[in-house]
Amino acid sequence: MRRVQVGIVGAGPAGLLLAHLLRRAGVEALILEARSREYLETSPHRIRAGVLEWGTKEMAVMAGVGDRMLREGLEHKGIYLAFDRALQHVNFQILAGHGIWVYGQQYLVRDLIHHHLGAGGEILFEHEVVGLENLEENPVVVYRTPEGQEKQLACEFVVGADGSHSLARQCIPQAKLHQKAYPFAWLGILAETRPAAEELIYASHERGFALFSMRSPTLARNYLQVSLEERLEQWPEERIWEELNLRLGGVAEARPGTILEKSLTPMRSLVVEPMQHGRFFLVGDAAHVVPPTGAKGMNLAFCDVAVLYQALMAYYRDQDRSLLARFTSEALRHVWQAEFFSYWMTTLLHTLPDPFEEKLRQAKLRHLAESPHLQRFLAENYVGLYTSGRYAGNLGN
Ligand SMILES: Cc1cc2nc3c(=O)[nH]c(=O)nc-3n(C[C@H](O)[C@H](O)[C@H](O)COP(=O)(O)OP(=O)(O)OC[C@H]3O[C@@H](n4cnc5c(N)ncnc54)[C@H](O)[C@@H]3O)c2cc1C
Repeated sequence: MRRVQVGIVGAGPAGLLLAHLLRRAGVEALILEARSREYLETSPHRIRAGVLEWGTKEMAVMAGVGDRMLREGLEHKGIYLAFDRALQHVNFQILAGHGIWVYGQQYLVRDLIHHHLGAGGEILFEHEVVGLENLEENPVVVYRTPEGQEKQLACEFVVGADGSHSLARQCIPQAKLHQKAYPFAWLGILAETRPAAEELIYASHERGFALFSMRSPTLARNYLQVSLEERLEQWPEERIWEELNLRLGGVAEARPGTILEKSLTPMRSLVVEPMQHGRFFLVGDAAHVVPPTGAKGMNLAFCDVAVLYQALMAYYRDQDRSLLARFTSEALRHVWQAEFFSYWMTTLLHTLPDPFEEKLRQAKLRHLAESPHLQRFLAENYVGLYTSGRYAGNLGN
């Protein structure tokens, strides 16, 4: 049976960043990833997050994987809010001292893979993990090779970084699942066209919420609030562009372009507690899911890794297990902060089915437009002062 120090399930942003940091510090980490490298880097099904908090951008730079992001990513000072047929800019740089960075998750995954393999790291693509055993004392990862053979990997530690439909999550005995489902979904499109504005527009309209985002100056990423029963066939291209423009209320224009990808995502929040068991740890979406309104998913994955990396290094450098023992309590601080903010953004911007709650929501939105204090709250949370901001500058050896 092959042995490694740290076995990692999943080559998403969380697993890749952790493996890369550990390898750089001389700890042997092996990633097992169910999909092919090509799928991760190019499949339209993997076009996901695109907003990096200020601290996440700093972490990527400190990890030595930020060169392309700094060249090709877009720095944004803030966001726009569109409602009551007016457009209002919230300047994060003035309110919170930092902006945000727009760079597609798939590009970041490509960069992480490139740097990790280039530095001699190892990823077993198309190797699906099918079981995790003996997680308390002598962890073993059971996986299937592309030829269908079942094999085992002995590890000192195992990290579950296998995303929102995690198999690893089920291996925490008596885990508590704190969860909430929202009564709506997002219809997302990626289109070849100039984005509606140079920065993101969050539009709250009586027809429903819409987000106007981008992946580059020629690639728009837009979303519409839709009901949970909606199907993609009900949304031909003309209807999508018409609805996006209706929800902008005339304050900007969503220019139609070729739609490259369409998807439906139900909104939900989930936190697993604890995030560890014996010599096994969960990071990223395997441990928690946030509705994408607050743009926190990928940022939280980086935060978890920052905490676990420090804890593993304390163990490998000084045989100090105390940070590993405290991993869950430390990580849950940024997790719940992001869960709270994502819930706040989601319930503030989406039309709600209950008429009384909908009236309250509109009052909250008007309050936000008028109150510099609330705008500062939005700015501090959006740029991640209390999430990745706590770890920026903290990834050194
Ligand atoms: C469909 C979708 C759309 C999203 N859109 C947005 C968005 O618009 N904005 C936003 O902010 N956030 C979005 N998110 C959230 C964001 O993408 C995640 O928070 C982020 O991907 C978390 O990174 P991760 O590394 O934890 O997990 P992932 O990126 O999901 O990576 C997990 C990896 O594990 C692999 N894996 C799974 N099971 C196994 C197994 N048994 N064996 C081996 N490998 C396995 C998977 O193939 C995958 O590569 C979206 C998420 C999803 C699922």
